Amino acid sequence: MAASGEPGRQWQEEVAAVVVVGSCMTDLVSLTSRLPKTGETIHGHKFFIGFGGKGANQCVQAARLGAKTSMVCKVGKDSFGNDYIENLKQNDISTEFAYQTQDAATGTASIIVNNEVKTLFNPAPAVADLDPRFYTLSDVFCCNETEAEILTGLKVHSLADATRAALLLKGKGCHVVIITLGAEGCVMLSKTEPMPKHIPTEKVKAVDTTGAGDSFVGALAFYLAYYPNLPLEEMLKRSNSIAAVSVQSAGTQSSYPYKKDLPLHLF
Ligand code: ADP
Repeated sequence: MAASGEPGRQWQEEVAAVVVVGSCMTDLVSLTSRLPKTGETIHGHKFFIGFGGKGANQCVQAARLGAKTSMVCKVGKDSFGNDYIENLKQNDISTEFAYQTQDAATGTASIIVNNEVKTLFNPAPAVADLDPRFYTLSDVFCCNETEAEILTGLKVHSLADATRAALLLKGKGCHVVIITLGAEGCVMLSKTEPMPKHIPTEKVKAVDTTGAGDSFVGALAFYLAYYPNLPLEEMLKRSNSIAAVSVQSAGTQSSYPYKKDLPLHLF
């Protein structure tokens, strides 16, 4: 990067304060559950095209902070190149020295993002002789009190009971255990929280609790997939809140809220 024109010159107003000489690359981004091995073809679940290139990235950031910028670069005379020049303009970057050539294609970067979604296992309906691999292979094991009772053989009618059941499930090899407790919220147990922790929920007037557990698990799956860096406890608080909405009206899916109707702090 280099700096501005000579002070006192008439054209000073026009020159860029930040001039970047560097690359403009078109990113071809595939999201996959894992990276392919050499020569292997795997399914991706999302694809998008983005603007990248280290030089242009820096120029865009400077421009978005309010700098008067100019990009010195060369892209191909092709659709990626045309789009790139337009992108620079959209970012208020001068394209006076952004050239296009017939002799080469616009640079592209094939990017594979390993976008793993964790395995969330809900053992419903529960069976006492559940294949033990389910405990160890799932990242998050989430059940309700009845299911916890069947799986552990313990009575689960209170927070203290659920605490004991959660520890027993951990003993079976679970990494993260969550037991939902109806109006009491849920209890969690994880590697970082080795002692069961109660996550209470807000008091609401329940109209119909059918499907509350599914609302909770669906919400948790949403947070695991879209907010993977959120602490688990926060995901559970938010899942509690969403399930609490579902119990306040009749029906199962008909009682599940839409994002647009939920408070912003849940997202
Ligand atoms: P299931 O529907 O599988 O029996 P629960 O009854 O444990 O599961 O409910 C699942 C979640 O729904 C709870 O963890 C809680 O977040 C929410 N929930 C259920 N009942 C109520 C209630 N009366 N008030 C507030 N939240 C509730």
